[in-house]
Amino acid sequence: MNATNWLARAADIRIDGRLLIDGQRRESASGQTFDCVSPINGRVLGRVARGAQADVDAAVASARAAFEDGRWAGKAPAVRKRILLRWAEKILAAKDELALLETLDMGKPIQYSLTVDVPSTARCIAWYAEAVDKIYDEIAPTPRSALALITREPMGVIGAIVPWNYPMIMSAWKLGPALAAGNSVVLKPSEKSPLTAMRLAELAVEAGVPPGVFNVVPGYGHEAGEALALHPDVDAIGFTGSTRTGRRMLEYAGRSNLKRVYNELGGKSAFLVFDDFADVERAAVTVAGSMFFNQGESCNAPSRVLVHERIADDFVAIVQREAAKYPPGDPLNPATVMGALVDDTQLKTVMGYIEAGQAEGAKLVAGGRRALAETGGCYVEPTVFDGVANGMKIAREEIFGPVMGVIRFKTEAEAVQMANASSYGLQASVWSDNINRAHRVARALRAGTVHVNQYDEDDITVPFGGFKQSGNGRDKSLHAFDKYTELKTTWVRIDGA
Ligand code: NAD
Repeated sequence: MNATNWLARAADIRIDGRLLIDGQRRESASGQTFDCVSPINGRVLGRVARGAQADVDAAVASARAAFEDGRWAGKAPAVRKRILLRWAEKILAAKDELALLETLDMGKPIQYSLTVDVPSTARCIAWYAEAVDKIYDEIAPTPRSALALITREPMGVIGAIVPWNYPMIMSAWKLGPALAAGNSVVLKPSEKSPLTAMRLAELAVEAGVPPGVFNVVPGYGHEAGEALALHPDVDAIGFTGSTRTGRRMLEYAGRSNLKRVYNELGGKSAFLVFDDFADVERAAVTVAGSMFFNQGESCNAPSRVLVHERIADDFVAIVQREAAKYPPGDPLNPATVMGALVDDTQLKTVMGYIEAGQAEGAKLVAGGRRALAETGGCYVEPTVFDGVANGMKIAREEIFGPVMGVIRFKTEAEAVQMANASSYGLQASVWSDNINRAHRVARALRAGTVHVNQYDEDDITVPFGGFKQSGNGRDKSLHAFDKYTELKTTWVRIDGA
């Protein structure tokens, strides 16, 4: 499809912003809505139900009833598998519609919504579906007089609260394992990107996921989000978002029913390039690609780039050249590689960090300005700072926009110390042709994922999550089942053994 087609489809789009409870679309209990505004040009796309306490109560009650009567949890894993696979197929069949909604809602380039977000979402659902009838439980090596079974059981009602940067993928990382394991889910998408969540749920119902098993309540964090996280009948919260809100999730659990809280939070990932790495070009091209993908709105964006001083000038020159290859443009144009930031608030935040970098003495070598203001959209140039010190605000705090800082180092020990001197620990990368150094540094880095001589390699088969204040849970891989299942021991006495 070309740019004209996408623009025409965007102009015609009709938004159904009603929430989905018990398999039915409906207005919020209060009748209130909020405007869904596209960051591409400030256009109001439609109105979305402003879910709050009463809606969350209804969604949780529906999810609980579905769980207790076994309409989903009671089905054989192979049956859940078939239904979830059908859902994944429906997601792929609706790829144009879902990609368009995602792009209009949060501003990412249509080419990536189509080739990354939709297929990754479908693959995630299909992968957990395929896995769930191949996992066995355990029998403990007890004395002969007893049989001790160690089994995993679904937890019950899962609250999933997700951010706006990858709305479908972040939802799928919770929904895949939670639903495959037999739980019921109430999903609260971000108020900045609610549209695809409701369509995903509709497609799930069409595929045969029974009513009540998967509900969606859009709304604001302090209303629908807080009501869900405080709800006494929610067994676990799968949260992805900022570290600030993650802290709240733990408080809500403490104030309510001690529900399990799995936090996937922010990052300030370090990218270490040593002077024994011969292919400086590849390292610099890679860091630019990973940093500017998704407008820099990625939790694992390599925003702290630590480069050995001997190769730093060459490295910075290449990054400068690469930054020019990510000009902000209309996300509906299939050629665009850098779209709009999610909203005005995020635009102001990012511009504030760029000002802070300059005020603290970092050297702006690319970008630094708002772009395409005449469109009414939220665009920022890909921005690179050189001469950054690890203590500067732009090196300590997550910016969540297309802003990279280059920090020069002299020794390996100094590089590792600076990389680890962060409250975050989501990802890191080490670039070196010395196998001993690569392993040594990879071991020393305090991060949930460490890349060696690459970045952004990704697959549903590996866990994703952080050390320190980047969170506690792990999305993806078979490990994600641990979050949505309880471990049960059953002792059976065997007489006469
Ligand atoms: P956010 O914390 O503002 O919001 C995330 C979700 O929480 C939204 O649905 C929001 O409505 C809800 N929320 C906000 N306040 C709440 C409250 N008081 N009670 C209950 N719910 C509340 O984060 P964001 O700006 O949407 O997302 C960006 C953040 O997400 C970044 O920090 C990014 O690093 C992080 N992120 C992490 C991962 C990961 O896997 N570690 C992945 C993607 C994004």
